[in-house]
Amino acid sequence: RTGLRHVDPAVAALIEQERLRQQENLELIASENFASPAVLEAQGSVLTNKYAEGYPRRRWYGGCEFVDQIEQLAIDRAKKLFGAEHANVQPHCGSATNMAVYFAFLKPGDKILTMDLSHGGHLTHGHRANFSGKFFEVIHYGVRREDELIDYDELLRLAREHRPRMITVGASAYPRIIDFARMAQIAQEVGAYLLADIAHIAGLVAAGLHPSPVPYADFVTTTTHKTLRGPRGGLILCREKYAKEIDAMVFPGIQGGPLEHVIAAKAVCFEEAMQPSFRAYQEQILKNARALAEGLKRNGFRLVSGGTDNHLMLVDVGARGLTGKDCQAALDEAGITVNKNTIPFETRSPFLASGIRIGTPAVTTRGMKEPEMAAIADMISEVLMDLNNHEAIAKVRQRVRELTSRFPLPY
Ligand code: PLP
Repeated sequence: RTGLRHVDPAVAALIEQERLRQQENLELIASENFASPAVLEAQGSVLTNKYAEGYPRRRWYGGCEFVDQIEQLAIDRAKKLFGAEHANVQPHCGSATNMAVYFAFLKPGDKILTMDLSHGGHLTHGHRANFSGKFFEVIHYGVRREDELIDYDELLRLAREHRPRMITVGASAYPRIIDFARMAQIAQEVGAYLLADIAHIAGLVAAGLHPSPVPYADFVTTTTHKTLRGPRGGLILCREKYAKEIDAMVFPGIQGGPLEHVIAAKAVCFEEAMQPSFRAYQEQILKNARALAEGLKRNGFRLVSGGTDNHLMLVDVGARGLTGKDCQAALDEAGITVNKNTIPFETRSPFLASGIRIGTPAVTTRGMKEPEMAAIADMISEVLMDLNNHEAIAKVRQRVRELTSRFPLPY
């Protein structure tokens, strides 16, 4: 009688409800995925009991002989997977990776040139509500109005004008390939550090399906839980010459004891990502994104930049007179999970937003392919046709249940 069901039935019941929600709904949030049972097993292990401040073979605590080997495995695999000189696997999340890089190599008040949140950037890229916007002087670049692609010429002009100490590239809502080589040229010309935040596209990069920033950027940060499909967490990759400062800033700079159970799960995730089946999975993510984008366009939706090269797309629902907020709520009612998102040159508040962001990593993990994507595009369209038609939405809900039951999750 030591199981969760007996010890804490309230929490156990809520976890069961969440498990069912994940089984029965269509998960289209671009930053989410379903970790493997092996990843979950490592993360739910006795490693959660262990303190291990420091790094392998340089700990402040005894009894670290096994967590040392686990963390070293994670480090070695991360380096191999991404072809990097140095890896720090301890950051608790993606935000902590960026904080560690900024704090290690910038002083308060230094200038950073980063992508605007409403153009696809992340909060940690200098948003005023985030630590990055409070500690540093932030200049934003974004996408061009005509084609909604990153405007590298304007970026170069801004870099020359402001001479930032660091340039951040990488996005949470940019559906196109990022030219890291071009970014490195620009950073080099103005003597800025280049930080590439590949949180969203890490799985595609690991599989060789998106150009890697590792040869070009001084620092590469990522989460491990999005396209990479591991546990929730962060990873920093850098050149050997920056290793000491990065490690010292992660611990003791901004974090305490590492989460060795999560680090073990990261090691499992990196091992999985080196298998041929992972490349096939990432290829299918791309095929599915293209199929879903085509399906939405066929249904008359405008996509930001006209389509997608990666795992996600931004649908301009504002062009249909709708808000992202209302679309998200109606799709939720149908069991289709997306998030509202601002679009470039947004005219609404972020709470309403003119877009919804849709991604294929999670449904691809379930085994869905192009025919299912076409069906999903039609279902989304039917819901958004009339947000107040609850009868029609209930019918879509039924079709969502049928579809997800054909592609069960392994837990
Ligand atoms: N960087 C990018 C580009 C992201 O999309 C995210 C997550 O949304 C993060 C960093 C932060 O990751 P976390 O939520 O783990 O702090």
